[in-house]
Amino acid sequence: MIEVKNLVKKYGDHLAVNNLSFIIEPGKIYGFLGPNGAGKSTTMNIITGYLAATEGQVLINGHDIYEEPEAAKKCIGYLPELPPLYMDMTPREYLEFASDLKGIKKSEKRAKIDEVVRMTGIEEVFNRLIKNLSKGYKQRVGLAQAILGFPEIIILDEPTVGLDPKQIIEIREVIKKLGKQHTVILSTHIMQEVSAVCDEVMIIAKGELVAKDTPNNLGKHIQGSNTIEALIQAPDYKVKAILNKMEHIHKFEVYNVPEEGCVKAVVTTGMEYDVREPLFYACAAAKCPIVGMQASEMSLEDVFIKVTGSGTDAKKGKTVSVRKGTK
Ligand code: ADP
Ligand code: MG
Repeated sequence: MIEVKNLVKKYGDHLAVNNLSFIIEPGKIYGFLGPNGAGKSTTMNIITGYLAATEGQVLINGHDIYEEPEAAKKCIGYLPELPPLYMDMTPREYLEFASDLKGIKKSEKRAKIDEVVRMTGIEEVFNRLIKNLSKGYKQRVGLAQAILGFPEIIILDEPTVGLDPKQIIEIREVIKKLGKQHTVILSTHIMQEVSAVCDEVMIIAKGELVAKDTPNNLGKHIQGSNTIEALIQAPDYKVKAILNKMEHIHKFEVYNVPEEGCVKAVVTTGMEYDVREPLFYACAAAKCPIVGMQASEMSLEDVFIKVTGSGTDAKKGKTVSVRKGTK
C-alpha cells in the first residue's frame, strides 16, 4: 500500500531522515513514535508529497509520489502538524472548499461533509469563524478535512496535540473507528497513544527506524529475556543462596521490601525458559515460602528509551533488530 525505500532528507548539512525504509499494509493503524526532532513530520511530509526527499522513493498504491503525484495523493488524507486552516472561513466554508479541492462530486458533497462533521464532533461550531475556535476545535476541523471523502490512507501528524483529556479520548475513538476501514498512520511522542490505538508501532530516532512491531511484541522481543519478580518470605542471604544454586538464571537481584520478613527477587532467564516452577520447588525445599510471583514485562516506555538510545545503559546509535514471528 505504501512503500518507502531508502528515504533520505537533508536540510543543508543536517540529516533529518537517514535511509528510512518500511512498508505499510492496508487496514491497520500504524503509530510513528519518536522524540521531538526524530524526523516524524519530515517523513510524513515526504510521504504526502509536501516535501521533496533528498534521496529515496515513496510509492503509494504503486504510484510514485513525485512522478504521479495526483494519482498518489488521491489515496491520501493528511493532517499536517500545523493544519492548513483558513482563519476567516467557517468550518462549513472550509470543508466545502476542501471537498472541491479533493474533487468530491457535487451530489455527494453534502453527505460526505455531514459525516465527517458528525465523526469529529464539530456540529456546534460549524458556522463560527475558525479563528475564534479553541485549539481543540481547530484540531478537529483539521481532522475533518483530512478524513473528508474517506481516502484509503489517512495520515495524521500528532493528531491529539493541544487537546484536553476528554478530547484526546474522543479523537482516539474517531481514529480507531477510521482504522476499521482505512489505513491510518499517526505520529506521536506519547507512548500511551500507541498502546491505546495502534496495531503496529514504528519507533524512529534521529531519522532512523529503530524498531517495528506490535506494541505487545516490542517489549518481549527487545528485551530478549524473561524476567519474573517473586516475593519470598525469607532473609535475603537464604534467597541468594537458593538462586545461586539454580541453573538457567542469567542474573538476579534481591531487594528489601516493606512487607515484614520478605524480600523481592527479580530473576532473569532466556526468552524460552520459564523459571517459575523450578523456583517454586527450590524455595519450598529450603522452607522459604513464595508469597507472590509475577512476570515483569518491559513497558513501552522502557522499550522506547532502550531503542532510542536515551537511556543510561543503551548503546547509542545501535539498531535493535526486532525478531518477528518468534513464538
Ligand atoms: P519530529 O516531527 O519528529 O519532531 P521533524 O521532522 O520536524 O521531527 O524534524 C527532524 C529534524 O529536522 C529536526 O532536527 C529539525 O530541527 C530538523 N528540521 C525540520 N524541519 C526543518 C527545516 N525546514 N529546516 C531545517 N531543519 C529542519
Ligand atoms: Mg513533528
